[in-house]
Amino acid sequence: MTPNPLALAEPPQQSSDSTSPAIISVRDVVHRYQDRTALHGVSFDVQSAELFGLLGPNGSGKTTLFRILSTLMVPTSGTATIAGFDAVREPASLRRHIGVVFQAQSIDPKLTAYENLWHQGHLYGLRGSDLKRRIEEILSRVGLIDRKADRVETFSGGMQRRIELAKGLLHHPEVLLLDEPTTGLDPGARHDLWQYLQILRDQERVSIIVTTHLMEEAERCDRLAILNEGNLVALGTPESLTREIGGDVVSFESSDAESLAERIRRRFRVDATVMNNQVRLEIENGHRFVPDVVEAFPGEIQSLSVSKPTLEDVFIRRTGHRFWSEDIVPEKKSGKRKRSSS
Ligand code: ADP
Repeated sequence: MTPNPLALAEPPQQSSDSTSPAIISVRDVVHRYQDRTALHGVSFDVQSAELFGLLGPNGSGKTTLFRILSTLMVPTSGTATIAGFDAVREPASLRRHIGVVFQAQSIDPKLTAYENLWHQGHLYGLRGSDLKRRIEEILSRVGLIDRKADRVETFSGGMQRRIELAKGLLHHPEVLLLDEPTTGLDPGARHDLWQYLQILRDQERVSIIVTTHLMEEAERCDRLAILNEGNLVALGTPESLTREIGGDVVSFESSDAESLAERIRRRFRVDATVMNNQVRLEIENGHRFVPDVVEAFPGEIQSLSVSKPTLEDVFIRRTGHRFWSEDIVPEKKSGKRKRSSS
């Protein structure tokens, strides 16, 4: 039988009052920073071996929730439990069950890959030949065993992220928490990292929560919680969320979108909205509807599109506004945001 490099050497102790099948349970979590409420009562469960995404634009509360789950912050009210341990009452026990990969780099670039993991192992009480074996296993798992003696500063961004991942996994956690792990990575490295996450889920049955502001990453999750201004606005699989819209999303660009929307509403009795100077509507058989509109309003439509609903359409439907405010768009290559006008 193939050895399982990430299997638990000694299964961590399970809380005796753990009756829920969920490995992570978030209940009515509220968090206030002075007079600002960052989370307004968020609840969801994550099942074992699920790849779960927390999707939301800037300021939606992802980092706040991430810090509560990783026991770095105490919520104002509500509960968060992982593997049956309460984040507020039993933080030390909970921490033994989680691996955390923060957005900020935590590896020492002047040390080798091996040395970084050696120090991490010591923090978790791993020692000697067991630790040595575990480091070799985990470096093989992330595809960097050949580079173990090289300083991390000589690695690409993607390779450095894989060392961060290896650090988070060294102590055999059942749950991995990752905060925007692909920030700053090129598309190839981003793709690789997502593949690692899927392998971890499938082969090692690690439960994973990953925060992201990128729709294409969210689509790769088994299930998603979509946050907006501290509220949970959608929860489900990417497929079920987009399916609920049904039909097509049609948009028309016009020099006077407000007037065009009003006339489309009156003439076709459909629900048309205006966003970013575009008339937008959700409709069955969009390709049949479009020629009728173009014919009804000759010369008024500068461009149009018909597309299948995306997670952004789910977000619009649930919040009434776009994922990104009008002047901010995601820069897909780096995962950073930039002003659209720049
Ligand atoms: P995200 O990670 O989705 O960008 P955050 O959890 O960082 O969202 O922020 C949620 C809200 O809480 C925002 O309005 C943000 O300005 C506010 N916030 C975050 N950290 C602090 C803090 N330390 N003090 C005051 N307000 C904060």
